[in-house]
Amino acid sequence: MSIFIILVLALALIFAWLKILSHRRAVRALEQAIFRKQPLLSEDLPGAAGSAWERLRIVGNELIAECAQLQQQRTGQLAQLEATLGSLQEGVLIVDANNYVLLANKAIQAISPRPAHQIIGHRLELVLHSAAFLTHVEAIRRGRSRPQQEVEFVEAGRTTWLEVTGTTIPSQNGERGLWTIFVLHDITKQKQLEMVRKDFVANVSHELRTPLCVIKGYVETLVDGHADIPDDDRERFLKIIQRHTERLNSLLEDLLVLSRLESINPGLKREIIDLPALLTAIIEDYRGRPAAADHTLEWVNDPALVPFGLDPLKFTQVVENLLDNALKYTPKGSRIQLVARLHTADEVVVSLRDNGPGIPAEDLPHLFERFYRVDKGRSRETGGTGLGLSIVKHIAQLHGGRVWVESQLGAGTTFFVCVPLRSGVK
Ligand code: ADP
Repeated sequence: MSIFIILVLALALIFAWLKILSHRRAVRALEQAIFRKQPLLSEDLPGAAGSAWERLRIVGNELIAECAQLQQQRTGQLAQLEATLGSLQEGVLIVDANNYVLLANKAIQAISPRPAHQIIGHRLELVLHSAAFLTHVEAIRRGRSRPQQEVEFVEAGRTTWLEVTGTTIPSQNGERGLWTIFVLHDITKQKQLEMVRKDFVANVSHELRTPLCVIKGYVETLVDGHADIPDDDRERFLKIIQRHTERLNSLLEDLLVLSRLESINPGLKREIIDLPALLTAIIEDYRGRPAAADHTLEWVNDPALVPFGLDPLKFTQVVENLLDNALKYTPKGSRIQLVARLHTADEVVVSLRDNGPGIPAEDLPHLFERFYRVDKGRSRETGGTGLGLSIVKHIAQLHGGRVWVESQLGAGTTFFVCVPLRSGVK
C-alpha cells in the first residue's frame, strides 16, 4: 500500500516538474518574443497552453504590435525632422549640459570645416572655434545673455557673421542639466554691405572736408581782413577758393554719376553705334584741348568692327575718364594710344595705352575701387576724385562687359574695356 502511495507521489512530482519546465519554457519564449519584437504563436508555448497563457500571449502580441507601430511612427517623425532641419537655411545646433553636440543640421557646414554628421557627439569647443560663440553658449545656459547676438566665426581664414538665437530646453533623455538650442542665421553679406557703406560714408566725409576747410579758411580771412588785404592776395585767395569749389563740384558730380549707375534704374540707353566714328570724334576733341598739347594722341582702328548696341554717352564717359587719367598721370611728351579691336567674335575691346611711369603691382587689384588712388597727392593736385575708374568699371559692367589693367613700372599702363558685341539695343 505504502509503495503504491510512494509511486503516486513520485508520478505527481514528475508531472509537476514537467509542468514547471513547460512554464519556464513559455516564459523564455515570451521573453524572446518581446526582445525580438516578434509575435508569439500558440505553438511557441508547448505544454503551457491553457486559457491564462493564451490570454497572456494575446496581450503580449498586442503590446509587441503597438510597440512596433510606435517605433515606426518615431522613425518617420525623426526622418521628417531631419529632412526639415536639413532643408533650413539657418543652422540648428543642440548641445547638452556638458557642451557635447547632440544635433547639427546641414547648414552648420557654412561655419564649420567638418560636415554636420562629424560634429555630432563631439565637444563644441573642438568643432567650432569661436571664443565669442562659446562665451555666448555659456551665458545662455546661465540665463545671462540676450537670446539674440551677432557672433563672428573665423574658420580656415574665412570670416562668417552669424546672428545666433539661443535658448535652454529641459534635457530630453532624463539627464541632469539643461540642453541649449541655437538657430544660426548667416548675416555675412549684410555685415559686408554695412562695412562698405560705413567706409563709403567715411571716405566721402573725408573727401568733402578737405576742400570745405580750405574754402572756409580763406573766406574767413577775406571777411575778417577785407579792408587790409592787398589786391594780389585777395585775387590769389579767390582763385584758391575757386579751385576747391570746382573740386567739390566734380566730387559731387562723380558721386551722383556713381549713385545713378548703382541704382535700380541706371538709365542705360543703347543705340546702334559706329564705335570707330565715336572714338575718332573723342580723340579729335582731345587733340584740341590744352591739357593734351604736350602729349601725342594716337588712334588705331580695326576695320572689322561693325556698328553695335552701346550707350554712346556712357561709353564716351568711359573713354574720357581713361584719357583724362592718361594725360594727368603721364609726363609731358608721353605717347597715348587708343585702340579698338574685335577681341573675340562677339566681344570688342577698347584699350588705352600710355608710356608713363606705370603703376606698382600691389596697387593694380584695387585700382577700380572707389576712392583708391596710387599717388594721392598727384590725384588731388590735378583735381582727381578717386572715382573715375570706379565709374569706368560700373559702365562696362552695365553693358555686360568687364575691365582690367596691365602695367609695368617705368614702361607704362594699359587699361582694357571689353564689351559684348550686341546687335540689338535691348
Ligand atoms: P582719380 O580721380 O584720382 O584720377 P581714378 O579712379 O580715375 O581716380 O584713378 C585712380 C588712381 O589710379 C589715380 O589716382 C592714379 O593714382 C591711378 N592711375 C589712373 N590712371 C593712371 C595712369 N594712366 N597711369 C598711372 N596711374 C594711373
